[in-house]
Amino acid sequence: MAVILTDEQKDIKEMVRSFMEKAVKPHVKEFDESGEFPIELYKQGFEVGLHIMNIPEEYGGLGLDNVTMAVALEEMGRVDPGFAITMLSTSLTLKDVLVGGTAEQKQRAADMIIPGAHGTFSMTEPNAGSDAVSLTTTAKKDGDSYILNGTKCFATNGGYADLFVVIATVDKSLRSKGTVAFMLEGNTPGITIGAHEDKMGLRLSNTVTMYLDNVRVPASNMLGKVGDGIKIALHGLDAGRLYNSAISVGIAQHAMEEATSYAKERVQFGKPIIENQAVQMMLADMQMGTEAARCMVHNSMRLMDMGVQNVSLEASCCKAFASDNAVKCATDAVQVLGGYGYSKEYPVEKIMRDSKIFQIFEGTNQIQRLVIAREMGKLY
Ligand SMILES: Cc1cc2nc3c(=O)[nH]c(=O)nc-3n(C[C@H](O)[C@H](O)[C@H](O)COP(=O)(O)OP(=O)(O)OC[C@H]3O[C@@H](n4cnc5c(N)ncnc54)[C@H](O)[C@@H]3O)c2cc1C
Repeated sequence: MAVILTDEQKDIKEMVRSFMEKAVKPHVKEFDESGEFPIELYKQGFEVGLHIMNIPEEYGGLGLDNVTMAVALEEMGRVDPGFAITMLSTSLTLKDVLVGGTAEQKQRAADMIIPGAHGTFSMTEPNAGSDAVSLTTTAKKDGDSYILNGTKCFATNGGYADLFVVIATVDKSLRSKGTVAFMLEGNTPGITIGAHEDKMGLRLSNTVTMYLDNVRVPASNMLGKVGDGIKIALHGLDAGRLYNSAISVGIAQHAMEEATSYAKERVQFGKPIIENQAVQMMLADMQMGTEAARCMVHNSMRLMDMGVQNVSLEASCCKAFASDNAVKCATDAVQVLGGYGYSKEYPVEKIMRDSKIFQIFEGTNQIQRLVIAREMGKLY
């Protein structure tokens, strides 16, 4: 591997790999088929702190730096990307509060999540996906409170979350300047959780529509001030895109391992198929793409660890490159396994199903390329 890990990073890698192999992997097929949310597996994940890895120690988290977080997320993604996303969504939700909240809000949110609970960040709406600023969930001031009304969709963890961060608007005509972020507790009256999405992949994760019907939130639950909603969301999105990229590297690594070991065993025309150059080309491209993606992710994580504030260009480059590579590796892994790759008896069809969403969420890869081109225009 081109990335060099410290002893601590090697220990974390080993700890997460061991947990994922022993506690999660034996149950992945069952939950992938049923689409049920594996509550007990997540409780075990909470016990080892997989939901709070990058949360500072002063709030009770593991306090890992971003490079180490990438190492851990890759290991989780290698076994099950849905499990990885579930844990990541929680830590990103808490991180949003730690970035945009007051001391009291930070402590309150940490107290909810640290002992073992899910968090959900909800910005997307049925008519506001890529164009997030066109969101219509309203926040109307009423004395010391705000009243929230609207519909949110695709909220990861929404059906099981204790902590919600919701983006709304006080005045749609103000566009981003009217946006606000609120932290809410899961049992707040007026929140109704819709049916869980029956998804093609990431089936160990929970994804729901949420209806906000006259939800009264104390003004003291607003993160930052009016106009900060999108800013808080985007700060989370840059980090989120990089963390997602680390999971994409894990997906690609898994596909590559499965394809290579199968190619060594499978004999056609009297020799293992790995001896055919056409197969070797596919495997070599997997190795190159995955190693390149890993290097890009680690480099960008290092920038964040050094305190670089604006990593939009790096985050978008990593997100698009790593997820395109994951989808390519997964698709080629199915090809290397031939008809067996298409069968549920082998793991690569699941890897292919799981990989696709990484080109879509946290901003589609088309939107990433718009961000990249915009940043290039500033640079050159
Ligand atoms: C499993 C899952 C989990 C999710 N989790 C969360 C979550 O926890 N919180 C949350 O807030 N959201 C979440 N999302 C929502 C996700 O971020 C959005 O689906 C995504 O941003 C795309 O929005 P959309 O689905 O409305 O697609 P659209 O915006 O309608 O895009 C449709 C297509 O048009 C393309 N397109 C749109 N505009 C342009 C443009 N200007 N130029 C070029 N192409 C364009 C897109 O690239 C895409 O290919 C999740 C989604 C899924 C499926």
